[in-house]
Amino acid sequence: MQEKIDLKSCTIEELENFLETLNEKKFRGKQIFSWIHKGVEDLDEMTNLSKDLREKLKEKAYISTLKIENVLISTIDETRKYLFLLEDGNIIESVWMKYKHGNSVCVSTQVGCKMGCSFCASTLEGVIRNLTAGEILDQILSIQKDAKERVSNVVLMGSGEPFDNYEEVLKFLEIVNHKNGLNIGLRNITISTCGLVPKLLDFAEKKPQVTLAISLHAANDELRSSMMPINRKYPLEELLKACKSYTEKTNKRITFEYALIKDVNDREKDAIELSKKIKNILCHVNLIPLNQVDERGYERANMDRVRNFQNILKKKGIEATIRRELGRDIQAACGQLRRRYLKNN
Ligand code: SAH
Repeated sequence: MQEKIDLKSCTIEELENFLETLNEKKFRGKQIFSWIHKGVEDLDEMTNLSKDLREKLKEKAYISTLKIENVLISTIDETRKYLFLLEDGNIIESVWMKYKHGNSVCVSTQVGCKMGCSFCASTLEGVIRNLTAGEILDQILSIQKDAKERVSNVVLMGSGEPFDNYEEVLKFLEIVNHKNGLNIGLRNITISTCGLVPKLLDFAEKKPQVTLAISLHAANDELRSSMMPINRKYPLEELLKACKSYTEKTNKRITFEYALIKDVNDREKDAIELSKKIKNILCHVNLIPLNQVDERGYERANMDRVRNFQNILKKKGIEATIRRELGRDIQAACGQLRRRYLKNN
């Protein structure tokens, strides 16, 4: 039997083509797309489609849905952490953050992750599977519905490596940006990668308006490879060269993420080495005091070291901010909540 098509994972063009294969008018594709992005999940609620068409669609297609398994709301800053149940029983997590400039959602792109970074909770058990474009999108649609507020910014910084699920992530970007859909501007979207260089270069060609964040975390190959296995494949020099060409091609500033770990990468010499390596790149450094993951054995850097690190970078002419910590009371960091859930269930 042919598998049913998930309408939520389709671009408008795909919906139009699909309708043509059913001998239906192309414009129905746009109607279905608009319904889905208004949050309608039942074909029978698409009242401008005839009953016949709805029945025909049900034979060949369906609309995937995420179920909210749990929501934790921070009492400190209103950040919400969602645990979603996927149709195959897997669990993913997403975070909703309120900022003055609008609401932002941090989405997951995979169930688990295979990148193996030594400080991260998402990758402890490897990757289970890629998310579809529809499942990435649905994290936003479901949160908008639940929070009853519009989302204006999206960050692909939840569990998973977005460039390891490249095709679905590109499709997600096309769908979420479409004027008949959520219409979220590409400039309001940030994608974070541990540094899959060939994909990064390709992405600069395809979606130059999206903001790019690079998880750097170390300024030399020895240290970075010990923390991030991907560095053995794409060492720092190659990664930073790609970052430089990205900024030249797009004229956009890159963000380097740097999680500060006590006595591992938070020393003065680390800050000086970092400043030397990135001084010629149009960039900004986001310093993240490590979120401690029990299984990992690393400790968070002391705040005075974090501030000192920031000051050294600033003195060397590099813009650096310390990430505001949202949802600290609800384990809002990457992969932590899903892990706790899996342990307890
Ligand atoms: N795979 C992508 C995106 C997901 S992780 C990437 O590597 O960029 C989002 C960010 O959180 C990355 O910068 C990641 O390195 C960082 N991160 C992961 N675990 C962390 C922890 N325990 N404390 C602080 N930052 C962490």
